[in-house]
Amino acid sequence: MEEAERRPLRPEELSRIKEILRQREKEIRREDPHSELLSEIEAALRRLARGEFGRCVDCGRWIRIRRLETIPWARRCRACQERWEMLEAVE
Ligand SMILES: [Zn+2]
Repeated sequence: MEEAERRPLRPEELSRIKEILRQREKEIRREDPHSELLSEIEAALRRLARGEFGRCVDCGRWIRIRRLETIPWARRCRACQERWEMLEAVE
């Protein structure tokens, strides 16, 4: 069931996410221009421009659309993100 949600994004989903990212970028640039979140958002917009948006950088699978709509700058799927944070906490 969950696996079925892993798929490439449709063009209308991509443009909706692009809008969300642009909006957040504007707000954060105004409120907190040195935040790490801003660089994450900029990186996500670059991935969008290159057509690389929506794949997990660790496992290469598609990140679920619901996750991307909540956290459009996410670089990892949830499982990989959790693993990554666990490893980071160990060091
Ligand atoms: Zn992953």
